Amino acid sequence: MTDTTPDTTPDAMPTNTAAPAASSPPAARTRLIVATHNEGKLVEIRRVLDESLGDDAARIDIVTAGSLGLPDPVEDGVTFEENALIKARDVARRTGCAALADDSGLIVDVMGNAPGILSARWAGRHGDDAANNALLLAQMADIPDGKRTARFVCAMALVVPAVDGSLVERTVRGEMPGRLLHEAHGTNGFGYDPLFVPDDQPDRARGLVEPLTSADMTPQEKNAISHRGKAIRAIVPAIEELLG
Ligand code: IMP
Repeated sequence: MTDTTPDTTPDAMPTNTAAPAASSPPAARTRLIVATHNEGKLVEIRRVLDESLGDDAARIDIVTAGSLGLPDPVEDGVTFEENALIKARDVARRTGCAALADDSGLIVDVMGNAPGILSARWAGRHGDDAANNALLLAQMADIPDGKRTARFVCAMALVVPAVDGSLVERTVRGEMPGRLLHEAHGTNGFGYDPLFVPDDQPDRARGLVEPLTSADMTPQEKNAISHRGKAIRAIVPAIEELLG
């Protein structure tokens, strides 16, 4: 897990919550906008915040940029971290609220870290999972089992507008190492999940002949080991600072 924070201290993290007083009403809620149009990501983030923050999670009013009608910015960064920051900065600037964004993809060792940031459009059309998987399998056709290592990567960025107009930024990274199969297996998940066997396997995989792909896993099993689950858990301390 890498924290690429340039220079942020707890004191530098601004807050729009009222300081709690002995007999004051419950603390104000802090709005956190998730820079996505995918409501599923909100559910996943909310679940981790509930687990990590307990009662404090109720102090976060978390919504998606999509539900507010905000547009997607052009993602022209060349790293996962840059693209996550582009999305979070855009929302923070437009709204004045704290913004959380992620950017993820698959890194295949023998392909020199491709498809990487191009994962969603590897076969040419954004989000065409079937075409992306078919192309990846064809490219990897002659690569033997021992050299099919790969990783899912997720960069998560939290951007918080400060009172002086600057933006306080924090990025973290989560990774899920594993290897690629020669054919698809499993019906859960999305993207490259049916081709990917994570190194970390749930307990129930122990007696099985074949290990599980991330598309064989339940959402809970995958979240416990996934790049995105790890990144969300790694950004929680920065969200706690935001709450004050
Ligand atoms: P995004 O940044 O979350 O939209 O992910 C970009 C692309 O990376 C997706 O369209 C998928 O092709 C791939 N990807 C990212 N995370 C996963 C995952 O957990 N499973 C399968 N594919 C993923």
